[in-house]
Amino acid sequence: VQRTLVLVKPDGVARGLVGEVLRRIEAKGYTLVALDLRTADDALLREHYAEHAGKPFLQPLVDFMSSGPTAAAVVEGHRAIEGFRSLAGATDPTTAAPGTIRGDLARDWGKKVIENIVHGSDSPESAAREIGLWFPGL
Ligand code: ATP
Repeated sequence: VQRTLVLVKPDGVARGLVGEVLRRIEAKGYTLVALDLRTADDALLREHYAEHAGKPFLQPLVDFMSSGPTAAAVVEGHRAIEGFRSLAGATDPTTAAPGTIRGDLARDWGKKVIENIVHGSDSPESAAREIGLWFPGL
């Protein structure tokens, strides 16, 4: 059984889409094993996005991600990492397939950061690292 970290980012929370995202996860058959609403601070976000250190969109990304509350969840199920990324769709919401969270619910607002509603861990190693950051002790 795999666990993955799912975030409903501040754009998703502000637009009232937490329930819709969790509904899709639960409808798909995955299990929520942790759930929390909080505003992330810069230190957590810089750790979370360590792989993007030095990229031009890192600061806009951290500013966006700390701009309001994020709903963080640990989602469990066989192949849940790949499964949630499939539910989320492509990073760019303009080209994300209809039927996916980003394809159905997000768009490009012409900002410096891509606002795309959700994050999902991309590998077992990232999932373990990210769950440890957002839910220490889980
Ligand atoms: P995917 O792995 O499918 O690309 P992701 O959410 O893991 O999705 P990352 O590449 O890890 O995407 O980037 C993290 C986040 O940073 C993205 O979800 C998006 O919000 C933002 N982002 C990524 N690339 C850019 C970019 N070129 N310009 C602006 N924002 C970006």
